[in-house]
Amino acid sequence: MTRWLRLAALLLGSLMLMARPALAQSILRDAETEAFMADMSGDLVKAAGMQPRNVQVMVINDPEINAFVAGGQYVWVHSGLIAQADNVNQLQGVVAHELGHIEGGHVIRTDGIKEATSITLLSLVLGAAAIAAGGAEAGMGIMGLGQQVGMSKYLAFSRAQESSADLAGARYLSAAHLSGKGSLEFFKKLQNQEYRLAIPQENSYGRTHPLSGERINVLREVYTVDPAWDTPPNPQLEARFERIKAKLIGFVSEPQQTLLKYPESDRSIPAHYARAYAWHKSAYPERALSEADALLTAAPHDPYFLELKGQILLESGRPGEAIQPLREAVAKTQQPLIAVLLGHALIATEDEKNYAEAETVLRNAIARDRENPFAWYQLGVVYEHRGDTPRAALASAERFSMIGQDSMALRSADAAMQGLKPGTVDYLRAQDIAMVSRAAVEQKRKRR
Ligand SMILES: [Zn+2]
Repeated sequence: MTRWLRLAALLLGSLMLMARPALAQSILRDAETEAFMADMSGDLVKAAGMQPRNVQVMVINDPEINAFVAGGQYVWVHSGLIAQADNVNQLQGVVAHELGHIEGGHVIRTDGIKEATSITLLSLVLGAAAIAAGGAEAGMGIMGLGQQVGMSKYLAFSRAQESSADLAGARYLSAAHLSGKGSLEFFKKLQNQEYRLAIPQENSYGRTHPLSGERINVLREVYTVDPAWDTPPNPQLEARFERIKAKLIGFVSEPQQTLLKYPESDRSIPAHYARAYAWHKSAYPERALSEADALLTAAPHDPYFLELKGQILLESGRPGEAIQPLREAVAKTQQPLIAVLLGHALIATEDEKNYAEAETVLRNAIARDRENPFAWYQLGVVYEHRGDTPRAALASAERFSMIGQDSMALRSADAAMQGLKPGTVDYLRAQDIAMVSRAAVEQKRKRR
C-alpha cells in the first residue's frame, strides 16, 4: 500500500460512522432513464476521447444537488440534481464537467474498499420483494463503487482540478455542438441557492465543487464566443428529459409533494407519469393504472409506458395481466431491466407453462447485463422449480459474488460443482467463482 492509500484507508475508517447516512444511498436503475442518460451524454463522452460503452451516467437516490465521478468510468448524478435541473442542457453542462474530472484523472481511488450500497430498481413493491428475497442487499462491490459514494461528500477536488475540469467540459460541449448556456444557468442557480442558505449544504455541489464568481466568469467568456453558444435545444431530448425527471420525482418524493408539483389539472405526459408513481406508491393501484392508461392512449406502443403498466399490475398482485404489456416492451427495446420484470411476472403467475419462457427471458437479460443480482435470483428460482439444484446453486454463487458476499458465493459455487459435469461451461464458471471468492475470503481474513 502506498502511503497515500494508507492515509485514505485511515481517513475512511474515521469517516465510516459519519458516513452512515451516505450508505442509505441507493443506485436507481431504470431502463428509460439509462437509455436517456446514454443518449444525452454520448457525444460528450466521445468528445472526451472515451468510448460511450465504457462510460455510464447513473442516478443515485439522494435529494442533495450533486454529481461526482467514481470507479473511473461512472458519472453519478443525484436524483436531487435532476429534479432541480430545468432542462437537458443544464444536465449536459454538469456531465461535461464531471467527464473533465475523469479525463483529467482526478478520480478518487479507494481500490479494495468495498461497502454495500443497495440498488433500487425503479420499481416499488419489487424493491421490497427483492429485499425480502435477499436480492437487494445488492452491493455496489459490483461496480467497484462502494464507499466512494460516501466519500464524495467529504473530499472535494482542488481548485486547480476544478478549473481544469471546467475548461475540459467546455471543450466537450463545443465539440458536441452543445451550448454552454445550460451550464452557466445551472451554476448561477446553485450560487444563488448558496447565497440564500448562507453556508453551503454539507452534501451539495457547491461544497464538493466550490463555485466562485471567478469560475463562472471564466466559463462565461469561453462559452459565449463558442460557435455552439446559440445551438437551440434538441426538442426530442428535452421531452425525454421531462419524462425521466417526472418519473424520478414521482418515485423518490412523498406522493403529496408529487401531486402538488404535478396537479390533476396538468394533463401533460410528464404529469401523468409522475402521478402514476405517486398513486402507486400510495397503494391506489386503480388510480395509478388510469394514469398509465392515459399515457398509453397518447402513445399505445411506447415501451416505457407499457413497462409502467406491467409494473403496476405485477406489483398490485396481477402478474397474469402484466405479461402482455411487458412482453411488448421487451420485444421493442430488448432492455434487460424490463426483461427481468417480465421474468418476474411470468414466475409470479406460478403457472407451470410460464417457467420455460421465464428462463429464456432471464437468460437473455443476463447475457446483456450480468450485473443484476435480482435477475440471478429469479433465474435461481426457475432452476430450483424444475429441480436443477446445481444450476440453482450456480445462480446463487453469481448473485453472492456480485454483492460481495464472498463466503456465501464460495459455498454456493462449491455446491454447484458437486452436481455439475466437470468440463462443462457451467462447471468452469462455478470453478472461477469459487477461486475468486476463496481468494477474497482469505484476503479479508488476513486484513483482520
Ligand atoms: Zn468538479
